[in-house]
Amino acid sequence: MATTDNSLDALFPVLNTAQIGRLDSLGRRRRVSRGELIFDQGTSVASLFVVLSGGLEVFSVSGEGESRITIHEAGQFTGEVNMIARRPSLVRTRAAAASELIEIDQATLQRIVQTDPELSEIFLGAFLRRRAVLIAQSLGNILVIGSSYCAATLRLKEFLSRNGHPFTYLELERDPGVQDLLERFGIAPSDIPVVFCHDQPVLRNPTNAQVAACLGFNAEIDPSRVYDLIVVGAGPAGLAAAVYAASEGLDVLVLEGNAPGGQAGSSSRIENYLGFPTGITGNDLASRAFIQAEKFGAQVAIARSAGGLTCQGRPFSIDCVDADPVHSHTLIIASGAEYRKLPIPNLQQFEGVGVYYGATRLEGQLCAKEEIVIVGGGNSAGQAAVFLAGIASHVHVLVRGPGLAESMSRYLIRRIEGCPEITVRTQTEIVGLSGNGHLEGLTWRNRETGKTDTLGIRHLFSMTGASPNTAWLNGCVALDEKQFVKTGADLSPEDLEAAQWPLKRQPYLFETSVPRVFAVGDARSRSVKRVASAVGEGSVAVQLVHRVLSE
Ligand SMILES: Cc1cc2nc3c(=O)[nH]c(=O)nc-3n(C[C@H](O)[C@H](O)[C@H](O)COP(=O)(O)OP(=O)(O)OC[C@H]3O[C@@H](n4cnc5c(N)ncnc54)[C@H](O)[C@@H]3O)c2cc1C
Repeated sequence: MATTDNSLDALFPVLNTAQIGRLDSLGRRRRVSRGELIFDQGTSVASLFVVLSGGLEVFSVSGEGESRITIHEAGQFTGEVNMIARRPSLVRTRAAAASELIEIDQATLQRIVQTDPELSEIFLGAFLRRRAVLIAQSLGNILVIGSSYCAATLRLKEFLSRNGHPFTYLELERDPGVQDLLERFGIAPSDIPVVFCHDQPVLRNPTNAQVAACLGFNAEIDPSRVYDLIVVGAGPAGLAAAVYAASEGLDVLVLEGNAPGGQAGSSSRIENYLGFPTGITGNDLASRAFIQAEKFGAQVAIARSAGGLTCQGRPFSIDCVDADPVHSHTLIIASGAEYRKLPIPNLQQFEGVGVYYGATRLEGQLCAKEEIVIVGGGNSAGQAAVFLAGIASHVHVLVRGPGLAESMSRYLIRRIEGCPEITVRTQTEIVGLSGNGHLEGLTWRNRETGKTDTLGIRHLFSMTGASPNTAWLNGCVALDEKQFVKTGADLSPEDLEAAQWPLKRQPYLFETSVPRVFAVGDARSRSVKRVASAVGEGSVAVQLVHRVLSE
């Protein structure tokens, strides 16, 4: 499915007679009169509409009123990603004339995309392309007002971008009229960032979870249900598990503390994942995988962190931060890892305002034509260097060791060597950061000579080794000395005895010291830290989930 073709034909395909015939037999005919509201922006959309005659006008709605995006004519259909993700509409749709429509309810649409490959390709392709256009043109139902001197602004922008949600952004220091707007709403500069979310009360410096709630991301999650499987983490491993589990008929919930994609979602371009010879951005990979999981009926709760696990007794109970606990018969731990922090006392002061942990288009915009530093010698640092070299005026890559060869793929080393905008500084580490409100300077030290240099560099990308996200497990399962989850044959007799392993059989591959709890991907001890292996482990674990459910 080529989702980059944004021609009108690709965005708004016309269904042929046979395709309309199939939909006609599954939906219900409906006549509407000119001007009738079909659905409004911000409301949940229960159906997709195919136009048989007449037309449906689609509008984006903002404080300035309606602006028409398109008109669906005979043979065309409504909808975008929200139809599959079961989220409120980003647009308003009204009948442009007396029209005859076929209405397909959401459950039927879900069945169609799972069982009719031809219509699935047409619908999902159009939905993804339409969402891409809404993002590119900032046509959403949310306005963010922020500041480049405020870390929470970058957090919110990253959260919305990584969730593929279009938004309009105004910057206090740059956009005229913002100050007046804030005064009109009685908003103090200390409330920044503020979010105007459809017609709800203004949110002042909201958490990601508050923004997710106002956008209706998690409206469908039912805490009273006992799921067959809960997956914690929607990185490559968790999303793969969700796709396989849901497509094989399991009732599955994924808890994701931030946005789908995990570490891979923060990559500018992944070039070694099978099937993408020219590479794919982490964001694209994540949004496709997310839609795939939702298409098969998995539920993905966004900005919902697992805060604790109760593993005695069945079903398992998973505490959620600021939300009700959820329950399941089996559990897959796919909570991955995140970069270790640099040991600099005032680091936190600059996180989001000069110190970044991702290198996507969003961070790239912040450092255009400026000198930057990337700390780290792994593939993620290499990718970031190559990507940012095309944006920044110069890139310094700092590694503590003698070179890149030990930790980075050959193809990236070659690109770095061939790029005059990148300087690799070996045996070098950051020892100081300074600035007022934003990073304004940093000091690095050569570990061999002890010589230090202080430079007026305003952007530092920290991409050093990763620590596992396993603190939420409350000691329920056995961990290795670095806090990664031990599974299968890596569990020693002592581990099993300490965990009071109750079964005659040994733990399955990827099973932890608690029966029915599995761990996959970067959070797992001795796993290969790669997208492909995370995806592979997530899919394999589902086979074992079936096995334990039938025991
Ligand atoms: C910048 C960068 C570039 C990379 N490039 C490549 C590459 O080119 N090729 C390659 O093969 N690999 C690459 N990698 C490595 C690859 O991305 C990881 O190996 C892979 O993402 C691991 O997948 P995972 O699902 O196990 O964990 P993660 O990707 O870490 O995902 C874990 C998810 O769990 C969520 N989470 C954590 N704790 C909780 C909680 N308590 N409750 C709910 N959710 C939680 C996190 O928010 C996250 O979304 C790159 C990594 C980075 C950082």
